[in-house]
Parts: sequence; structure tokens; C-alpha cells
Amino acid sequence: MNLLKSPVLVLNQNYEPLNICDVRRAVILLGRGKAEMLHNGRGELHTATLSLPIPSVIRLQYQVRRPFIYRRLSRREIFMRDHHLCCYCGKETRELTLDHVVPRHQGGRHTWDNVVSACIRCNHKKAGLTPHEAGMTLLREPRAPRPSPYALFLHCTPLEDWRPYIPWLS
Ligand SMILES: [Zn+2]
Repeated sequence: MNLLKSPVLVLNQNYEPLNICDVRRAVILLGRGKAEMLHNGRGELHTATLSLPIPSVIRLQYQVRRPFIYRRLSRREIFMRDHHLCCYCGKETRELTLDHVVPRHQGGRHTWDNVVSACIRCNHKKAGLTPHEAGMTLLREPRAPRPSPYALFLHCTPLEDWRPYIPWLS
């Protein structure tokens, strides 16, 4: 693994885990005085003229306002939220469709709490009706996914060094 590409945990000024960058970026932030190193779990990086500690945890010297995590309403996101199951019969299928719980022609909106995954059969059966009119029951109330700190580690397993800095892991 290329050391410069190794992951580094970035904490906000108030020590909240903020994101993950690579060593290259972390060294630049440290060099510019924009961050301090909290943990060096990797020894030193040697160049011709100097040696630099290789951080695994850094903390920014300024507070970054957390970006609002906006999750776009898309087929893919809805299917993921619903675990690829039909929200009416519970069947797991690749042939899912989007269903408006309250149909659009009845004023139903295209929003997280009115759109669910439905198998083709259930979608046909429900057609332009509300679940009540169609005699069908939603297995679960649809909701908008909430931004979660766990999303930080969806694509990256936390390193041992990081644990003390991640309250919900320790
Ligand atoms: Zn179904």
C-alpha cells in the first residue's frame, strides 16, 4: 500500500470526527499550520532534506462547519433504504419499482416519506390507489434517511489508532 495514500482521521477543532483524508493531504495541512498531529502511528517519512512524522490522526486548527448531508431522492437510494424488499409483501427482488404511497394524482408528493420500493406485482395491484383503498398494508413507515456519523466509515474501516477519538466506537 502506498503510504502517502494511507487514511488519516481528521478531527474538527472541537475533536469531533470530521472526515478521512490521506497522508499526503494530512502532511500538507500540518505543513501549513492548519492542523496539528494528534497521533503518529506510522513512524517517519524521509525525503532528501527532512523527515516528517506520518500522522494517523490530525486535528484542524479551525472549526469546520459540518456540511449538511443531502441525500438525493433516487431509485437507488430508495431501494437501498428499503433493503431491496417490497414494502408491501416483503419480497426481496431485483425487479423493484417505485411506488407513491399516496398516488401523485391524489396529491401524493415525491418525497422520502411518500415513496417506497414495491415489487411489480404489488405495484400493479395497488395501481392508482392508496394502500387503504387497495386493502394493502405498508410493512414500515417510509422515512428520510438521517445523516449519520457512521457514514464516515462506509468505505473505510477505522484503524486501531482512531478508536480513542471516535466516541461511538469505544
Ligand atoms: Zn410486493
